[in-house]
Amino acid sequence: MNRKESRNGGAVAPVRLVGPMEELRRQEAAAQVSAPALLDQIRALRRERDAVILAHNYQVPDIQDIADFVGDSLALAQAAARTDAGVIVMCGVFFMAETAKILNPERTVLIPDVNAGCSLADSINADQLRTWKGEHPGAVVVSYVNTTAAVKAESDYCVTSGNAEDVIRSIPPDREILFLPDAFLGAYLERTTGRRMHVWMGECHVHAGIRPDEIEARRAANPDAELLIHPECGCTAQVLWARSAGTIDQSRSFVLSTEKMITHARQSASNQFLVATESGILHRLQKEMPDKRFEAADPGAVCRYMKMITPLKLRDALRDLHPCVEVDPEIACRARVAIDRMLAVPARQQSVE
Ligand code: SF4
Repeated sequence: MNRKESRNGGAVAPVRLVGPMEELRRQEAAAQVSAPALLDQIRALRRERDAVILAHNYQVPDIQDIADFVGDSLALAQAAARTDAGVIVMCGVFFMAETAKILNPERTVLIPDVNAGCSLADSINADQLRTWKGEHPGAVVVSYVNTTAAVKAESDYCVTSGNAEDVIRSIPPDREILFLPDAFLGAYLERTTGRRMHVWMGECHVHAGIRPDEIEARRAANPDAELLIHPECGCTAQVLWARSAGTIDQSRSFVLSTEKMITHARQSASNQFLVATESGILHRLQKEMPDKRFEAADPGAVCRYMKMITPLKLRDALRDLHPCVEVDPEIACRARVAIDRMLAVPARQQSVE
């Protein structure tokens, strides 16, 4: 496997996950409005603006609870593609808002904080990809969904963890493949498909920190718990790789998309689960299954970008119709081809293996 040097700007220290009431109290003081009144304002503005609020599974609980739809990056793109609301508010990170805008060029797309980025998406830019393509003329470019619109515009396929294997298997064996930006996911896909690829050396700063040996220690302490590994958002690629390599015991461990993670937990005879992904997903799991116990495989797996979206910023975005997300029409047109291919290849129904 060829590897490019990581372009990450260094690790970002994880931040403490602020509790919902603590965050609302802080916002209440800042906004000089009570927490229930703030949430009421959001509901009223949503009606007034004919807006739909889409929230990623890693958002803070208050945002998840007030959203019209909560899901992973693929589900959010699908929701954005089918909405008829005049305004889309993306409570997630910036590349997700770009995707919503590309799918809805005529609608207003808002993101409550434009600084909500993604270290994985930032690990490669369009210039770097063009240079890389120049070194491998004729290669097929397969980009993970965690990429900017400009990178998607330089790509042949945009994929999620759920459909990446099928896309890679469909590429004629005589074609070189450039896979980006997640190095661990690329290595995992090489192992599962048997296909050699050139893999970009990018990573998610949150999930690069999830240690397989720590997960095994937690499993040893919770022998009855099932391990649920979420493959979306580039988040557990290192864990996926370790599992496929046998470093993590494969028994009672399941690689599942968000929806299947929830379905699996609901149908499982087990009532204890270790969840290896960003900690925000625990809110949705616990909310939908209050009788079962969910624990983070690594409580430090908190994405500070995802936590930048707060009810106060959401209220202000709806009130001011700002910040708006715009994508250059020429870039959007080319990126749309790769995004449509992602939406056309369904994610596998079970695990990604
Ligand atoms: S958890 Fe990682 S991959 Fe997901 S948005 Fe945050 S930085 Fe990006």
